[in-house]
Amino acid sequence: MNPLSPISVAKFGGTSVGTIHAMRQSADVIEQNPQTRLVVISACSGVTNHLVALAQGIDDPQARQDKLAAITTIHQTILTQLPDCQNTQAEVDHWHLTIAEYADTAASAPSTALTDALVACGELISTHIFTHLLNSRGVATVRADARELLRTDSQFGSAQPDPQQTKAQCQDQLLPHLATHLVVTQGFIGADAAGQTTTLGRGGSDYSAALFAEAIEAKSLAIWTDVPGIYTTDPRIASQARPIGEISFSEASEMATFGAKILHPSTLVPAVRQHIPVFVGAARAPEQGGTWIREQAHSAPLFRAVALRRNQTMVTLTSLNMFHTYGFLAKVFEILARFEISVDLITTSEVSVALTLDQTNTQGDAPQLPDAAVDELSQLCHVDVCKQLAVVALIGNAMNQTPGATASVFNALEQTKLRMICYGASNHNVCVVVDEYDATDVVQRLHADLFE
Ligand code: ADP
Ligand code: ASP
Ligand code: MG
Repeated sequence: MNPLSPISVAKFGGTSVGTIHAMRQSADVIEQNPQTRLVVISACSGVTNHLVALAQGIDDPQARQDKLAAITTIHQTILTQLPDCQNTQAEVDHWHLTIAEYADTAASAPSTALTDALVACGELISTHIFTHLLNSRGVATVRADARELLRTDSQFGSAQPDPQQTKAQCQDQLLPHLATHLVVTQGFIGADAAGQTTTLGRGGSDYSAALFAEAIEAKSLAIWTDVPGIYTTDPRIASQARPIGEISFSEASEMATFGAKILHPSTLVPAVRQHIPVFVGAARAPEQGGTWIREQAHSAPLFRAVALRRNQTMVTLTSLNMFHTYGFLAKVFEILARFEISVDLITTSEVSVALTLDQTNTQGDAPQLPDAAVDELSQLCHVDVCKQLAVVALIGNAMNQTPGATASVFNALEQTKLRMICYGASNHNVCVVVDEYDATDVVQRLHADLFE
């Protein structure tokens, strides 16, 4: 490979490697894009969910066996359709045994470190199979272990990457292979300084791919998934949703932050840092095109998309001491910071403040306010914690500079019980918090009124 020739990174999600047919379509995409030198893949569709269930500890040995069998079936169904796969079969067998051992331990002594070691097996296996498939098609491919490339801290379940160390490891260990081979590695997983396996949170393969693209200074990143691009909202929620040809980093980042599952919330952070354009398309239908996410898009419509984030927790703090005094919020945030609680949306009134908690981890739990934090906050004010909420975000441009922009939003929501509204801090969004059971309806109504 000419060291000056541009390299692209391609990421394939779970459905794009979930069956032999899907794997072949993904391999076609790779072969059709010769600049793709690094391929980042997820676990085969369904496997991570099974692994998370095992990691939570299944007591009943038979139920545990059934889960293990379900995982084995997914992989074996693919493997039996591949030629000459004795070596790969041995590797996969080894990981299936490891999963069984970890699952036994998790049933008696679950832990976050064990969860990460266990769920990582999904990607460790899928990369063995996909590397074999590419080699069997004559594409010279090597498999790299992402735990030797992607360095993170030790926050199991939602580990924070260390971009400098990741870059050093990738330049050292990945670049020499990229000169002669296509490299396949795992999304979602990394390792801390002690070599312990960590994960970046559910859907984290997108983020891994962006981190690798940054580390090897790739010229572009392609996220190949099950839909041909980013739509005006989740097409599973609104059938009239339509694809967006081009979108800016800021708009797409807001969409990802506010729950559009198409991209892990942090995916665009490395892309923005390194000015890497990102393409999103369907691996099974590349001819349908997709969405380019760039620093600047040619158009900047007032309303771009609607995003939905379920499973939200809202905390309302009320205190008469807040009235015309200073320092109350500082005390509240000092407590939240000490408990490492990240605040997402916030609104205040004369005597109260409402905020939502931010959290995406591999366990997929609703964000929690620890009891000890509630106790400390209760010494300052009355604390009310409300769950089963959803955040719906309308993403657009220059919203807080356009007269009447919000009128159409509130018209669409006139029948809805709004638990919280956030508007004004960014000119890219209006967010509302609604009851979980209203969420789908709210997204559909906003989309119908503003996009259809
Ligand atoms: P992968 O396994 O490839 O990472 P995901 O399931 O994580 O795929 O993400 C793709 C899914 O994201 C789509 O099938 C779609 O239901 C959902 N999605 C949510 N919001 C959007 C959006 N605005 N545009 C397109 N897809 C979206
Ligand atoms: N396999 C992981 C998950 O299901 C990571 C990913 O697919 O991005 O969450
Ligand atoms: Mg995903």
